[in-house]
Amino acid sequence: MKVVLENVTKRFPNRDKKIKTEVTAVNNVSFTIPDGKLIGLLGPSGCGKSTTLFMICGLHKITEGKIFFGEDDVTNLSPENRGVGLVFQNYALYPHMTVKQNIMFPMENFKGEDKLTKEQMLERTMQVAKLVQLDGLLERKPSELSGGQQQRVAIARALVKMPRVLLLDEPLSNLDARLRLQTREEIRRIQRETKITTVFVTHDQEEAMSISDEIVVMKDGVVQQMGVPQTVYQDPANLFVAKFLGTPPINVFTGKVSGGALYIGAEKIMATPGVADQDVYVGIRPEGFVVSDNGCLTCDFRQVETMGGFMSVVSTHENSENPIIRSTVTDDIKIAEDAKTVKFDIKPNKIYIFNKETEERIRIEG
Ligand code: ADP
Ligand code: MG
Repeated sequence: MKVVLENVTKRFPNRDKKIKTEVTAVNNVSFTIPDGKLIGLLGPSGCGKSTTLFMICGLHKITEGKIFFGEDDVTNLSPENRGVGLVFQNYALYPHMTVKQNIMFPMENFKGEDKLTKEQMLERTMQVAKLVQLDGLLERKPSELSGGQQQRVAIARALVKMPRVLLLDEPLSNLDARLRLQTREEIRRIQRETKITTVFVTHDQEEAMSISDEIVVMKDGVVQQMGVPQTVYQDPANLFVAKFLGTPPINVFTGKVSGGALYIGAEKIMATPGVADQDVYVGIRPEGFVVSDNGCLTCDFRQVETMGGFMSVVSTHENSENPIIRSTVTDDIKIAEDAKTVKFDIKPNKIYIFNKETEERIRIEG
C-alpha cells in the first residue's frame, strides 16, 4: 500500500496554557512511501517524528494537508478504519494475559464481515507467532519474556490485524544494545516477508541507515531530505543532514571560497569552479582524509588511535568546528610519535561545502 503525505501540517495549542501561540510540530510535510517498502523517519528528539506517525495512523487530526493510502483519501478516516498496525517504544502488553491471549486480543474486536471464528483466530495467531518466532512461548506471561520478546509480541499483535500499513515508533529504544541489533534484524526480516508498507521512527541514525529502504530526515517539523540511506550519506542536501548521518561524525571547518578556490585558513584545498566568493562551512567525512607529506591541509597532530578494524588519526585545527578532527585511515600510515603536524590530501567525493548563512549545500561543477 503506497502512502502519500501531501502538504501535511500539525499545530498544537501550547502545552503551557498561558502561552497563546500554537506549536507547529509538523510543517508542510510531503513525501511518498512506495508500496511494500520500509521507510525510516529520522531526526532528533522533538523534530515531529511521532506527530507525523500519529497523523498517518489517524490518532492525531491533521491541521492542514491530506494523507492517501493508495488512491484512498484517508485524511478524515478514524484509526480503526485505516487498517494500520501501531507499535510503541513501551510494549503495552496486557500483563495478566498469556502471549497467545495478547496476540489474539485485537481479533476479538473485529466486527461485521471481518468477524473471525475462534478457530480462524487461533490459526492466524499461530501463523503470526511463527513469523515473529514466538511459537514456543505462547503460554508465557509478558513478565516471563525478555524485552526483545515482549516487543515481538507487540509486533505480532499489530500484524494479526493484517494492517495495510505498519507504524513503529522507536520500537527498540527500551532494549539493551545487543537485543536492539538482533530485534532490528528481526523487524527487517518480518517486513521483507510480509511486504507490509512500514514506517519506522527513530532518532538513531545508524539504526535508520541499517534497516531502511529509504530514510526521511526531519528537523524542526520540516523534511530535510529523503532517499536511499547511502545516497543521503554521500550526497547531503545541507549541513544538518551531513552532521546528523555518520559515525564518527563528519568534520566541519570554517572556510571561504575566493577566486574560484576553497581555502581553510591560508591553505588552498581545491578548485571550486563557478562558485561565487563567500564564507562557507566545509564538511569532510572521516574516511576522506589521506595522510600525505605533500597534503593540502595541515593539522596539529595529537595521536593515532585504533578503533575496531581501522586506524584513526586524531588532530586539531584552529578552523575546525569540532574539538578534534577524526580521520579514519588504512593502517599502514607512518607518523612519527613526536610529530607536531600531519598533512592530509582530501578525497574529492568526501568533501562538501555549505553556505555559511543558509547552511545549504553548494554544489561544485565537474
Ligand atoms: P519526536 O517524536 O520527533 O520526538 P514529537 O512529534 O513528539 O517529536 O513532537 C514534535 C513537537 O511537537 C515537539 O516540540 C513537541 O513538544 C510538540 N508536541 C507534540 N505533541 C504535542 C501536544 N499534544 N501538545 C503540544 N505540543 C506537542
Ligand atoms: Mg517521538
